[in-house]
Amino acid sequence: MRTWLVTGGAGFIGGNFVLAAVAEGIRIVNLDKLTYAGNLDTLASLSGHSDHVFVQGDIGDRALVQRLLREHRPEAILNFAAESHVDRSIDGPAAFVQTNVVGTLALLEAARDYWRELEGAAREGFRFLHVSTDEVYGSLGEQGAFVETTAYAPNSPYSASKAASDHLVRAFHHTYGLPTLTTNCSNNYGPFQFPEKLVPLIVQKAVAGEALPVYGDGAHVRDWLHVGDHVSALRRVLDAGRPGETYNIGGNAERRNLDVVKTICALVDTRRPREDGLLRESQISFVRDRPGHDRRYAIDAGKLQRELGWVPSVSFERGMVDTVDWYLSHPEWVRRVLDGSYRMERLGEGA
Ligand code: NAD
Repeated sequence: MRTWLVTGGAGFIGGNFVLAAVAEGIRIVNLDKLTYAGNLDTLASLSGHSDHVFVQGDIGDRALVQRLLREHRPEAILNFAAESHVDRSIDGPAAFVQTNVVGTLALLEAARDYWRELEGAAREGFRFLHVSTDEVYGSLGEQGAFVETTAYAPNSPYSASKAASDHLVRAFHHTYGLPTLTTNCSNNYGPFQFPEKLVPLIVQKAVAGEALPVYGDGAHVRDWLHVGDHVSALRRVLDAGRPGETYNIGGNAERRNLDVVKTICALVDTRRPREDGLLRESQISFVRDRPGHDRRYAIDAGKLQRELGWVPSVSFERGMVDTVDWYLSHPEWVRRVLDGSYRMERLGEGA
């Protein structure tokens, strides 16, 4: 039976990944600190499952990681653990450096020491997959798309910390030969996303009849990918990616933030019409832009398609319908997540 060490597996993308992997018969050791963004409710269906070993802890705790590696002998490490919210990184960058940079370094050192002691096929097959973001490339103009060779130009403390972690992963491959893989993915949406991120935030506020905050003029463009497609891309990269390489992952679905919000409004209107007959679009409220807000991201995922045959399978329209329906039918999950410190308040205004 295959065993993988997953970090950050109680978060949004890591949680979706763990659920899919265990369903496939892979044994997962899940190391997560359970910050405000980590939520064991996401993994409730795995409760008592012998193929899911949950360990609360920090990726920066090298002794703990070493113990888990010795005990469980994983064939791969997948690093999802991170501080992930740009607005929070504006208010408090230090936590981002601590986990995303210092924590990733500790994890890499433990992985390197473990891998060095492996022999034969186990050493040959071992992989360290680092999950990263397209935000490391900075902002685009009207045209063009990020490719794997685009120069890094991170603009927020979040993207700067992720860029630093990507560089450390690269260095561990070149310096020590650690068989690493790095993926840089566009904006994800789907079930189990913490409700501070755009899609679940707008669903909640639309239903509650509250103002729907759109930063600046709402014309910031992101490439949207359903989390299920991200999970399938990661599986493909883990199975067939070449050690030392990086792969961009994207959904071919560029949308302006304002249009994403309007799409959600229309879906909520058909499912839960307002009693006063007004449309949810009337709740849209343009608010002061995020400092340093990148204008446009677009991903060229051609390398992943050409080399590994991966393409996204969920259209933006289909994925949004499923996602809105998921949040509307899981109020309990949302309520329990929000029982923590976060209250959907505005963060990251910078001053
Ligand atoms: P998330 O914030 O939902 O989850 C992060 C998880 O990591 C949480 O469960 C948290 O408890 C855990 N964690 C935080 N610090 C930790 C530490 N020091 N040790 C152990 N666990 C810790 O994030 P997400 O949206 O699921 O993102 C996962 C990864 O994917 C991140 O590395 C992020 O940079 C990357 N990514 C996200 C997106 C996106 O659209 N959400 C896009 C591209 C890449």
